[in-house]
Amino acid sequence: MPADERLIQMALSEGATKATVIPGGQVALSKDFRDICATNACGKYGRCYMCPPDVGDIEPLMDKVRGFSRALVYQTISPLEDSFDYEGMVAAGHNHVQLSQRIQNKLPGLLPQGFLHLTCGGCRLCEACLKPQGLPCRFPDRALPSVESYGIDVYNTVKGTELKYINGPDTVTYFGMAFFDSKEA
Ligand code: SF4
Repeated sequence: MPADERLIQMALSEGATKATVIPGGQVALSKDFRDICATNACGKYGRCYMCPPDVGDIEPLMDKVRGFSRALVYQTISPLEDSFDYEGMVAAGHNHVQLSQRIQNKLPGLLPQGFLHLTCGGCRLCEACLKPQGLPCRFPDRALPSVESYGIDVYNTVKGTELKYINGPDTVTYFGMAFFDSKEA
């Protein structure tokens, strides 16, 4: 099985709703996402080690993404009771983060040459991040930054793929991406 297909099948078997592999050149990047994070609409700005500004300056992070030739893109699409179902959105986010952890465990075996794995906004591994208390990260080897913190424009990145950014009323969609280099690219 080609390497791309092995990655897609792994993501699907771990619980992703859909997955694909795209060329690195298809990844849309914009430093505007840092300004969006700084508005702190999600309440995580400066309160999570995996979010801005602690995750690092956006330009070097975007350069890191540009250094990879391919990207596994996966998503979860979860039903909500209605568009105000905040608990449903939080639960779906936690499920997505757990999926990312399962994928993270499988990636070294499939990408021994190395990879960069990003998931949906805010780390969510702990009930509350230890950053506001000034305590060290509890799981530094497992914590994953968000795609937005690296300046990735998910909407424009998945345009033209089978993964849609919005998947109908009363659903919430979360994304994860793993960047890698491939001799098959
Ligand atoms: S693992 Fe816990 S302490 Fe570390 S970044 Fe994630 S939420 Fe914060």
